[in-house]
Amino acid sequence: MKNRLFVLLLGLLLGCGKAAAAPEREPLPTPGQWYVILDAGHGGFDAGASGPDTGVKESDLNLQVALLVQEALEDAGVRVLMTRTDAGALGDTKREDMARRGQLLSIEGADAAVSIHMNKFTDRKVRGPMVFYQAGAEAGQALAAAVIDSLTDALDLSPRLPNPGNNFVTRVPPCPAVLVECGFLSHPQEELLLQEPEYQRAIAEAIARGVLSFLEEKESAAAAP
Ligand SMILES: [Zn+2]
Repeated sequence: MKNRLFVLLLGLLLGCGKAAAAPEREPLPTPGQWYVILDAGHGGFDAGASGPDTGVKESDLNLQVALLVQEALEDAGVRVLMTRTDAGALGDTKREDMARRGQLLSIEGADAAVSIHMNKFTDRKVRGPMVFYQAGAEAGQALAAAVIDSLTDALDLSPRLPNPGNNFVTRVPPCPAVLVECGFLSHPQEELLLQEPEYQRAIAEAIARGVLSFLEEKESAAAAP
């Protein structure tokens, strides 16, 4: 016990010394100030939707966009937990995958959870992003509104409302949660755009900005007298 305390104190001292030795550096963001869970939908045996013209897999696009959202959030000092960082599923069966995903999405202390997906519809003229929240969840709705506003703004689309829904990834987390459908793989142009790194980055940064504005709003509301 004493040893552990000593190591802890030593660690703190060393930590302080390090900070003092580099005063010219920008102060680090407060660790764990905000904590966001990012879920790249599908993976492995479950590819999700596929692009009718190019055969692109939704699971791959979800991961590409999620990694860019992670980068944008971490650049803003947010702590991020990814449900997956490679092409694989989170288990050998859909049941195992969902159980593991559910566990990660339920981790204590998260401020928001965002699941990234790509849409598909029979009418190939339908396009654009959609953001779903768990029907009846007030904070989820506020998060969804912030994210869809940021997306329509970034993509120069007319404003859209977020959509109420009932999805595993918005139902399970105890924190405000949204499912972002970045666009329609069934729309011929959007199927190509969603594979463009620049477009993916624009979407990812817009999602991150939406999440940040929700978190800032929540924090200033909590700080208000
Ligand atoms: Zn999906």
